Amino acid sequence: MEKILYRSTRDNQTKVTASQAILKGLAPDGGLYVPERIPQLDVPVERLAGMTYPEVAYEVMKLYLTDYTEEELKEIISKAYTGKFDHADMVHLHKGYHAFYLELYHGPTIAFKDMALQILPHLMTAAAKKNGVTKEIVILTATSGDTGKAALAGFADVPGTKIIVFYPKYGVSAVQEMQMVTQRGANTFIAGITGNFDDAQSGVKAMFNNKELAERMAREGYQFSSANSINVGRLVPQIVYYVYAYAQMVAGGHIANGDPINIAVPTGNFGNILAACYAKKMGLPIAKLFCASNENKVLYDFFQTGIYDKNRPFVVTSSPSMDILISSNLERLIYEIAGEDDAKCKALMQQLSETGRYEITEEMHEKLSDFVSGYADQAETIKAIKGTYENSHYIIDTHTAVAGSVYHRYRKETEDKTKTVIACTASPFKFPRSVILAISSDYGYQSDMEMVYTLSDNMRIPVPRAVEELRNAEIVHRTVCETQEMQKVVEEYLGLA
Ligand SMILES: *Cc1c(COP(=O)(O)O)cnc(C)c1O
Repeated sequence: MEKILYRSTRDNQTKVTASQAILKGLAPDGGLYVPERIPQLDVPVERLAGMTYPEVAYEVMKLYLTDYTEEELKEIISKAYTGKFDHADMVHLHKGYHAFYLELYHGPTIAFKDMALQILPHLMTAAAKKNGVTKEIVILTATSGDTGKAALAGFADVPGTKIIVFYPKYGVSAVQEMQMVTQRGANTFIAGITGNFDDAQSGVKAMFNNKELAERMAREGYQFSSANSINVGRLVPQIVYYVYAYAQMVAGGHIANGDPINIAVPTGNFGNILAACYAKKMGLPIAKLFCASNENKVLYDFFQTGIYDKNRPFVVTSSPSMDILISSNLERLIYEIAGEDDAKCKALMQQLSETGRYEITEEMHEKLSDFVSGYADQAETIKAIKGTYENSHYIIDTHTAVAGSVYHRYRKETEDKTKTVIACTASPFKFPRSVILAISSDYGYQSDMEMVYTLSDNMRIPVPRAVEELRNAEIVHRTVCETQEMQKVVEEYLGLA
């Protein structure tokens, strides 16, 4: 098989193997690693349609992670995906009202991030071995709520690693916070910051780019890596479920092989939808990609106008994992529509970091025609949850509802009847208050945990283990700091001089 190397979006001369890209996370120049070319699916859909999720995962991942051997990849996939998911098929495709719902939330932290973060630690420790790295890997992560817990669950007690997570203390749901602060594992450290997610992400990026800090870390036997969605080790596993979804659409007789489908994705950091975009480039018959935003609609405005402008108020919404004004993975799309012009991409990203704004050319804007962008405000999100429940007794979470709202509005306006798959990124059990109150105002007096049981009674499905466990879990992480103190907190935890 032909090897694929990865280069930086800010320097085409930087070339590394897949395992090196996974180890590093971010390129040394601050750019993101992208594959030199997108491989084509080499297994016919009829065969994929008969495969289990782990089998499809192997067929997709082998095309990108070409410096891992077949044995390594199969072992990694088996370790990551065996016995961790509470649905027999791992990922379930639910036929709903005028849409198919791809339930990506059956993993240990009930958000789609488990799909990649259960496997990333194994990809990373294998990469360390492969590249002769003997230092302890310190995973440094900013989270808007779901990445943090999913990364913690993936890395907890993985030998040769430590994991540090920063989350916005006042920007996550009660269930999300409980999930994090009760995390076990001697190698885990969690801190709330008083700023928002973008502050957390900027603080983390600054530490990654701090050469002096890196030197002190190295002296103590540590090196940073990233579990954020910019890591190739997250991007690649996320492509798998779009290929799987298409194969399942064929297997279920919903489409004929070759028919196009649309995909709708509730979007924050642009990682999940970028994976769908890669799946399309691999030859999967995908027509439109719906990029759905909440009221932090910086992406919607970008797709409409060609201007990316983060200078705007940050809105705390009921879909906190999408409360983001700097969508890091968009850089990979910018690089592509710039014709892989690294200097152009670098200049735009520099403008973003200096002024919070950049504008793409008309020529670049025209290359975005695969995307349909939309956004849903608070009232529309609530309406989507309620409507889906009333139409088909199916309950979706607030994030999925944003995508549902955007899609259904599009469908009404355009009468495009192409079968559409909506990525369900979190279980409704993760946001019980918002979900219950969208459906009925009768339960407003209940605590979030009581609402979990109300939800379970209404849906007649058992409370996921991930939530049940929280009832008696002990809070073991209590650190809260200011944004400016993040580095100090890291230094103290690692015992750096
Ligand atoms: C992270 C997350 C998103 C956003 O995904 P991106 O890859 O950052 O665009 C959407 N919904 C949920 C529930 C999430 O956890």
